[in-house]
Amino acid sequence: MAAVMRLVNRGALNSAMGQQYLLFSSAAKLQAVGVRAGQALPERVKIVEVGPRDGLQNEKSIVPTEAKISLINMLSESGLQVIEATSFVSPKWVPQMADQMEVMKGISRKPGVSYPVLTPNLKGFQAAVKAGAAEVAIFGAASEQFSKKNINCSVDESLQRFDEVMKAAKEAGVPVRGYVSCVVGCPYEGKVAPEKVAHVAKRLYSMGCYEISLGDTIGVGTPGSMTEMLEAVSREVPVSALAVHCHDTYGQALANILVALQMGISVVDSSVAGLGGCPYAQGASGNVATEDVVYMLNGLGIQTGVDLSKLMDAGAFICRTLNRKTSSKVAQATCKL
Ligand SMILES: [Zn+2]
Repeated sequence: MAAVMRLVNRGALNSAMGQQYLLFSSAAKLQAVGVRAGQALPERVKIVEVGPRDGLQNEKSIVPTEAKISLINMLSESGLQVIEATSFVSPKWVPQMADQMEVMKGISRKPGVSYPVLTPNLKGFQAAVKAGAAEVAIFGAASEQFSKKNINCSVDESLQRFDEVMKAAKEAGVPVRGYVSCVVGCPYEGKVAPEKVAHVAKRLYSMGCYEISLGDTIGVGTPGSMTEMLEAVSREVPVSALAVHCHDTYGQALANILVALQMGISVVDSSVAGLGGCPYAQGASGNVATEDVVYMLNGLGIQTGVDLSKLMDAGAFICRTLNRKTSSKVAQATCKL
């Protein structure tokens, strides 16, 4: 055995082990571990892939438009149902998204897949609809200081600014998703009160957002603080309209997602290869990697419709393009060295 092992190079071995575990993960589907353990986990989870927008927006190097289009097309082929494609913000504020029109025109839209875009104001909304966007997203913060420092107004004032976007979206029949950021912690304020998050989530829901994505933007949440926050929010907004958006800064993202699933939430935001935080910078706040979420959900016997190896191909592609290492543990464990 030892002699045989010596003949196998390390890369091939790692790769073989990776394949084995990927297969193990799919086989575990049949066992429905969560159900067996008596927890009310959802049968199916909708993953909202945020890599091309939330991810790339926070990457240092500007990504060529063609590469963004290829990434979105590869993600579409992996079976993801929702891929946030770009943001209709002013290129003055977010130069990384200046090619939003070209991206929207360039992608091959797969039937059944939705490609929402971020629209911070009416001008952005109108441009998005012109570019063929069939779904949009708006965002509010749960922290007063975060709101003051970033957009120079209170949380409630910031939500009022979306009134005209909501009105235009309603007239055009375009569904709107609402994001809440800093749902457990804020870089300026520290701990954020769950009641404050519940208030903002309720506002967005009553304004007409069909889904509210609760974002642990700085990744400080733990299953303890997530539970507390989700309990408060679910008293105001139906669980079926909630999603979680976890960052893995403190290594808690998968545990936090699991807690959300146990509370009946069945929509999870994630980013291929964990795009969105520089793995070398201190305080990096990368999104949880889609590969890792899919691996966990496969292991729990929860359906996603996502083909993990196709997803990993998309992750490998964008990491090569950006010349960066993947932040996905699953991709690291199975990569060919
Ligand atoms: Zn994020």
